[in-house]
Amino acid sequence: MQQYDVVIIGSGLAGLLSAVMLAREGMKVCVLEKNKQIGGCLQTFSLHKTVFDSCVHYIGGLGEGHTLNKIFRYAGIMDQLELKAFDADGFDRIAFGDEQISYPQAVGFNNFVAQLEQYFPAERDALSDYIKTIQTVGDHFPLYRLRHGDASEKARVSGWELTATLEKITQNKRLRNVWTGNNLLYAGAAGKSPFYLHALVLESYIHSAHKVVPGSSQIGKLLWKQLQQFGGDVYRHAEVTRLVEENGLLNYAETKDGERFYGKQFIANIHPQQVLSLLESRVIRPAFRKRIEALEQTTSAFMLNLVLKPGSVLHRPYNLYWHRNDDVWENTDVANPSGSPQQYALYFTEDKHHPGYAESLSILSYMPFAEVRAWSDTTNHSAAEQERGNDYAAFKQQKSALLLEEVMKRVTDLRGNIVAESAATPLTYRDYIGAPQGSLYGILKDVNKPAETAIAIRTKIPNLLLTGQNVNLHGVLGVSITAVATCGVLTGLDYLLGKINAKQ
Ligand SMILES: Cc1cc2nc3c(=O)[nH]c(=O)nc-3n(C[C@H](O)[C@H](O)[C@H](O)COP(=O)(O)OP(=O)(O)OC[C@H]3O[C@@H](n4cnc5c(N)ncnc54)[C@H](O)[C@@H]3O)c2cc1C
Repeated sequence: MQQYDVVIIGSGLAGLLSAVMLAREGMKVCVLEKNKQIGGCLQTFSLHKTVFDSCVHYIGGLGEGHTLNKIFRYAGIMDQLELKAFDADGFDRIAFGDEQISYPQAVGFNNFVAQLEQYFPAERDALSDYIKTIQTVGDHFPLYRLRHGDASEKARVSGWELTATLEKITQNKRLRNVWTGNNLLYAGAAGKSPFYLHALVLESYIHSAHKVVPGSSQIGKLLWKQLQQFGGDVYRHAEVTRLVEENGLLNYAETKDGERFYGKQFIANIHPQQVLSLLESRVIRPAFRKRIEALEQTTSAFMLNLVLKPGSVLHRPYNLYWHRNDDVWENTDVANPSGSPQQYALYFTEDKHHPGYAESLSILSYMPFAEVRAWSDTTNHSAAEQERGNDYAAFKQQKSALLLEEVMKRVTDLRGNIVAESAATPLTYRDYIGAPQGSLYGILKDVNKPAETAIAIRTKIPNLLLTGQNVNLHGVLGVSITAVATCGVLTGLDYLLGKINAKQ
């Protein structure tokens, strides 16, 4: 029997950060992780001796003085992170169809305006207005500025729908499509996604855009080291299969092999649907279970990872987002009958032995879960490896070929220079991270159903809190802020924010 002050289920970024922040306060903390590798979306894998990020390719808000930098500094990992900045004049570039132009999204608010003004000279006022609007919206989310505000601040802007808000800023459709061209970053849905989702994500990258050079798993490893220093434990291969409540309080979490972890306090860093499926308790009403079950998830994706022949493919110090059509919202959540991609994102990694050339390329494209439903009863992750069958392998191969054919039209030096490749589908994300249907960022935020799609940190069980991407916002910055909010419930939010801000 294991006894802790705080038992955390899931070692995603929010779980690990929460563990470090609470262990620093003298609490005895453990983290239970189903996989061999910790970190959830921060996991990396190796192919042909080349390290690949399984999800996180770049991070916003890590620049000096910005929010994520402050949180990571407080967690004791900022100075040890090996980061590489993207091209400041265009960390992301947005391209359409066969056009050769790629429109830059630049670092720095003035620079963002200046770089795009070259392509849209008549839109200077709209560009300034856009920047002002995303900053204003950010100011209404107090935790994004590491201050303790009240909910009414958010309420003033959280009902704005994304596409309608942009239409008010400019009539120029191409410019609106450039602003939202990297919507893979938040898997938005036209008519549903709130403007704040776009604003908070984009604002963080306009502040700064960095890649974790040895791979995003470095963040998890450094947090684990910090946790060990404060006496915390991480258990891997520890899949929680039961959460048992007695007399209104959660008593223990039980893992697949029957081990019980008793705690005074529990934090679930897993999807709320999963929490409910593990929870044995009458305290949670059936109506609440139904509401959570019925929620729409963000769509999923297909990722093709390529190892490149050394010194053969030029490194691009930016990410490229391409769209087949002049409408970035088209076909993000339906399968394309032709099988060809409607859009893709390219993430290059530079080869340190051949500067100026890429060692690898990851290609991401939306893929709804429906495309892999035929194999949904197979499971494959590091703790339970299993082949999904030849037809699944053939499906992946066909998708990879179609994607590559499209990408090679733009990245012509790729042809003949691929040494090895591997692909991930919505099933990969489902099995490695635990997101229902491989959803990229969990529950879809819908401005038309604000109350239903907002998940609170507190649950009906007083000693069970939630954290992670389904609460507040996804992304490295989003879940770090959520971890602060979750820990703030236990330590006092003013106290915790005071310590984070004092550390700078
Ligand atoms: C393809 C993709 C690309 C992305 N790219 C970026 C990017 O470039 N930049 C960025 O900022 N963000 C990116 N994100 C989003 C970001 O990575 C996530 O929002 C964030 O890391 C989620 O963190 P989390 O704390 O919610 O935990 P998660 O990463 O969701 O981790 C949850 C953990 O819980 C574990 N778990 C699940 N069930 C159990 C159980 N029963 N028992 C024990 N453990 C369990 C899982 O194995 C996992 O380790 C990307 C996400 C995806 C999917």
